[in-house]
This record gives sequence, C-alpha cells and structure tokens, in this order.
Amino acid sequence: MNVLDSPIEYLKGVGPARGELLKKELQIFTQGDLLFHFPYRYIDRTQFHRIADLNEQSGYVQLRGVLRSLDTVGEGRKKRMTGRFRDASGMIELVWFTGLPWLQKHLVVGKEYVVFGRVTAFREQLNIPHPEMEAVQADQVQPSVVFDPVYASTEKLNTKGLDVKTRRRLIKNLLEKITAADLPENLPAEWLGRFRFPCRLQAVQSIHFPRNQQDLDAARNRLKFEELFFLQLRILQLKQHRHQASQGYVFERIGEYFNTFFHQYLPFELTGAQKRVVKEIRRDLGSGKQMNRLLQGDVGSGKTMVALLCMLMALDNGYQACMMAPTEILAQQHFQSIVGYLKDMQVNVALLTGTVKGKKRQVILEQLRDGTLQILVGTHALLEDPVVFHRLGLAITDEQHRFGVVQRARLWTKGHPLPPHVLVMTATPIPRTLAMTLYGDLDVSVIDELPPGRKPIQTIHRTESHRLRVFGFMKQEIAKGRQIYVVYPLIEESETLDLQNLQEGYEALSREFPPPQYHISVVHGRMKPADKEFEMQRFIKGQTQIMVATTVIEVGVNVPNASVMIIENTERFGLSQLHQLRGRVGRGAEQSYCILMTDHKLSQEARQRIQTMVQTNDGFAIAEADLKLRGPGDIEGTRQSGLLNLRLADLARDGRILQTAREMALRVLEQDPELALPQHETLRKQVEYDRNAGKPWARIS
Ligand code: ADP
Ligand code: MG
Repeated sequence: MNVLDSPIEYLKGVGPARGELLKKELQIFTQGDLLFHFPYRYIDRTQFHRIADLNEQSGYVQLRGVLRSLDTVGEGRKKRMTGRFRDASGMIELVWFTGLPWLQKHLVVGKEYVVFGRVTAFREQLNIPHPEMEAVQADQVQPSVVFDPVYASTEKLNTKGLDVKTRRRLIKNLLEKITAADLPENLPAEWLGRFRFPCRLQAVQSIHFPRNQQDLDAARNRLKFEELFFLQLRILQLKQHRHQASQGYVFERIGEYFNTFFHQYLPFELTGAQKRVVKEIRRDLGSGKQMNRLLQGDVGSGKTMVALLCMLMALDNGYQACMMAPTEILAQQHFQSIVGYLKDMQVNVALLTGTVKGKKRQVILEQLRDGTLQILVGTHALLEDPVVFHRLGLAITDEQHRFGVVQRARLWTKGHPLPPHVLVMTATPIPRTLAMTLYGDLDVSVIDELPPGRKPIQTIHRTESHRLRVFGFMKQEIAKGRQIYVVYPLIEESETLDLQNLQEGYEALSREFPPPQYHISVVHGRMKPADKEFEMQRFIKGQTQIMVATTVIEVGVNVPNASVMIIENTERFGLSQLHQLRGRVGRGAEQSYCILMTDHKLSQEARQRIQTMVQTNDGFAIAEADLKLRGPGDIEGTRQSGLLNLRLADLARDGRILQTAREMALRVLEQDPELALPQHETLRKQVEYDRNAGKPWARIS
C-alpha cells in the first residue's frame, strides 16, 4: 500500500489517541491527508515589527520580545487574562478570553517569545487579542530555518499535545520516509520546464519547509496550478460529456418573426455585446445539442431584448418559448416590455402568475396546450403540473440566484420529446474566476457593454449631519419631476428593529414631504402581497414621488423616471446588494444619483465597500472587490457548491493561475479528449485516482 493511504495513527509520533484527535478536529484520516494539510502561513524568522511602530492599521504582526507580566482580571464571563509584552522599542498588551488554565500553565513570565497576532484598539489602547505565542529557544539566536510553517489548528489540538511544534515534527517524520514513488509526478514532464515548476515531491516538501522565499513561491505556484488544473479538467470533461449526451432541438431557420422584428420594429441599434451574445446563442440553438447557457449582464445592459430575440428564433422554428422570473412584479415588467416590443406584430404572449385565476387561467392553459400561445411569461407558477406546453423549445429564467437548481431543472421536464434549450440570465455579475469554476460546465455569455447615452450614476457618501441637505436635494429633484427610492436594510434576525427603523424613517419623511404636494409609497416584506402591489403601482404610475422600501425592490423594478436612490444604513448591505439597488436608477435619460447614508463611525471593511461603490459603476469590478473583501464562500449562491473547498488556490487572488490552468486543460482535451496519448499518462492517472477516491465534484449547475 502507498504510504499516503495508510492510516494516520500508524505514523511515527501519532498513535491512537492523537490519531483520533486529528480525525475529529481536522478530518485527517490518512498520512496523505496530513501531507496535504498545508501551512496557512509561515513565521519568517527574520522579520519582526517594532512595538513602537504599531498602530490601529498594522493588521497582523510578528513581534519578538519578553513577556513581562501575566494577570487574570474580571469575573465570570468578563474574566480574561492580560499580559504585558515588551521589546526594545516599547510595550503592548496581549489579551486572552478563553483557554486561561492552559495558558497559565504554559506561559512563563520573563521568557522570550515570538508573538503573532492582529493589532486592535480598545479604548484608544492597542492590544493583541489571542496571539499565537512561541517561546524562543536559546539556540535560536541565529535562525537556521527562515520559515517555520504554521498549521490551522484548534484549541483542542493545542491543549492535547498536538501544538504547532509537534505538528511540524510529524510532518518532518512523514516527509523523511516518502519518495517519488509515493507521490508520483502528475503533470506532463514538459510543463515543469515550461512553467518552472518543481516536481511534485519537491513542491510538497517545500510548501512545508521552504528554504527561502523563491522556493516557497515556486512550490505554491505549482501546487495551486495543479489544484486548479485538475479542477478545470474535470469540469471541462463534464461539459464535454454533457455536450455529447444531450440532444437538443435544432432551430435551423431565422424566419419571419425574427426578421420582421429585427428589420422593422427593433426600437434601437443593438450594442456590440448584445449582437455577439445573440450570435453565440444562435450557434447553440442550431447545433443539435441542448443549449445550457448562462447570460451575465449588469443591470440595464439589455438582457430582455436578447431574450426576446431568442424567443423569436424559437417561434420561427415552430416552438413555444417561456420566461420565468422570481417575483410577480418582475414577471409583470417582463411581460409588459415584451408586449410593448411586439405590439405591431402578431404574436400571442401571455402572463401567468399565482394571481391569474379562473377563466383567464383556463384560457392560457388551453392555448398553451394546443400551441396557439407562443410566449409565456411568468413566475414559478410556470412549474406547476397543469402547465403543459404543446412544444416548448426554449426556457429562459431571469435572476437565477433566486431560483433553486431543482426549480430550474423542472423546466426541463416541460419539453417533449426533448428538453428545451435553457438560457439562464443573471444580473449579479460573478467574477470571471468564479464563473469559470462554478458555472464551468455551462456555457457563459457576457454582455459587458451598456446601451449608449447612459449617464453614469453619481454615487455619494453622506452621514446623518448632511440629512437636511439631502432632504433639500430630494425636493429639487422632485421639483424636476423625478422620483426617489429610499431603501432600508431588513434582515430576519433583527426584523422587528429594522421595520421600526423604516417606520421612523417614513414618519420623518412624511413630516418633511407632506401631502398634498408630496405622496409617499411604503413597501416591505411584512405587507400583504396585494397591498405591496398597490403601493408599487402607485409609484410606477407616478402617483407617489417617494418610495420607502426594504430590499423587496432589489429585484428588477423598472421605473425609468426614478433618478435618486437613497440607501439608509448602507454599512449593513453587502457590495453586490448595493450594486443591485443602485441599478434601480439610471434607467432613463436623466442624470441619476445614489446617496449612501451611514453613521460617522464605520468599520474598515464598510468603508472599503462604500469607497468601491463611490469609485465604480462597473458590476464586474464590484464583484471582484466583493470577492476580495469577503472571500468566495460568501458570494451569494456559491455557498453550498462545495467546489470552492480549494486547498491552496484562492479564486480571488489567483485569477492568472486559473486562467493558465483552464487554457492548458482546454488544450489537452481538444487534442486528446480521452487522455490516451502517452504524454498525458500522468494526467490520466491522477484523474483515475481522484475518480476512485470519489471526489465530490460532479454537481455544478
Ligand atoms: P437588464 O434586464 O439587462 O437589466 P433591460 O433589458 O431591462 O436590462 O434593459 C434596460 C433598458 O435599456 C430598457 O429600457 C431597454 O429598452 C434599454 N435597451 C436595451 N438595449 C438597448 C440598446 N441596444 N440601445 C438602447 N437601449 C437599450
Ligand atoms: Mg432585467
């Protein structure tokens, strides 16, 4: 048996008790698991901060000095331990809230330590909460190792004999006995030279115990590449198989409907991006394979027109098309736009939502079944069993994050004998790196251009002290005939408080903007759908000038006359949400504004979010910033995917490596889809190994 597959407890220095602990705390079952549990950082033995230079912005720092005192203060839940730590330049406080008994036993006043932690400020005083502490050995004055690895750990591991030093020793024991036979090269030999990669064994050795910075960088590069390459290879293989497997209707013709509309009724010139995307989709529809395409385009980029043109292609070939939106309001707006675009043509379009009932519903269902109804727009009401199509050729969903994968899959079953072509539209830009990974098996089209003549929205940050001026500005805009949104955050955990907030804001606005001159709509999630709808309609029809709302308006309302978006408690919104909200204005010809209201006091991160919003209108730039600020695990819709459990690579930072990995994977598969060529033998072996290990990567969209 390969050493790497042998149980962790058999490794020298582990044994049953520690083995149990490693399994429980870190899911390390085999010696290979331990080997691939990489350090998350290194202690650079040559780099220390001076305490005198620290400030609130220092972030994580490494210090070297002497622990001068250790005191327990407070009682009960407030109980904590503080230590004074001194170097030649000054003194800083260290503080701990948990694990006190162990610390008391192990930390020694008067001893020299290397301290690593994050500098924070409490009541104007700097301190470092829960620092990592490592005693300096007497013989360590001249460090022989430059980098010491530090591994992710837990309190249990630290206190039960698997602290960082023990872990280092275990890895050393393991590295001493493995050879290239245990850890064979899995990339083609030629690539090592081309990319200046160390071989696999060398890379794994170096990632644990790098000799110097270059050594570490090379090892990291290689291992990240390897991780991303095999991920892409699998995703692309999936896509290849899907393409081979899924037969689809062939839309051969561009006919009457498309041509008439395109040449006579198209209300504007398509943007370059719209044209390109329509071509991409057209190619899919004619290919004989079922289309499965994601269409990304920022708010206002004109996805609806693209959707309509595709639906007309379906009609030209004798098929029906449907379009599903996540809310009633959005479905209605799509319906109205489509009916508006097609007003001079003979196309039978209907709207089906939960509120369409009785005779009207009956007629829709009948016409759908006999094929006289050509385009059906609606909510998830489309998924219900009585909804039976005569010949559904194209199913479009909008704002896909709001639909579950299962719901989308149900649309597939609405087609007979073949599943319809599927186009998924989203206005939540996903950074390219994420899209390649998350939707790597879908084809992706991007509308990366806004229709001409749009004035960029001006985004401004304001605090409570500007409130009166903001009111003044609102009056100015209303006097010009514009309408205004005022949006409050609402989250489940603090719903009551949030609604109270909104209520107070509404009352303040009512005093400032009284009838008969002004009228205000209020919409929030606790209202009955009918009331919500009523208030919404008043605003859409221009009967109210101000709409006070929670995030219900985030999805897709289109009121071109609304030109000001005021967001309250902006610090509580995430970046992508802010961008979506801002996208509600700037839809007409007027200059639009987005005013971000916050408290004076803001966290560093909130400040960065607001700065990003003020600086750019580009949804993709914002998505990238969001990814950097929050990490991929938090991006909406990606949480459950499991695909992002990358060991080493970071999708936010390693876009270049990912790009290369994807290109190489594409090239390999193009040349050798089954990995049968001798130069791809190493790749094939790794893929087989992963497959046998049952890696759960097969679920994507
Ligand atoms: P999205 O759904 O991508 O947010 P929409 O399809 O609602 O965007 O389009 C936003 C607005 O831009 C609509 O009023 C639409 O009529 C208009 N529009 C779309 N494409 C163009 C274009 N090529 N030129 C001018 N206006 C366009
Ligand atoms: Mg839209």
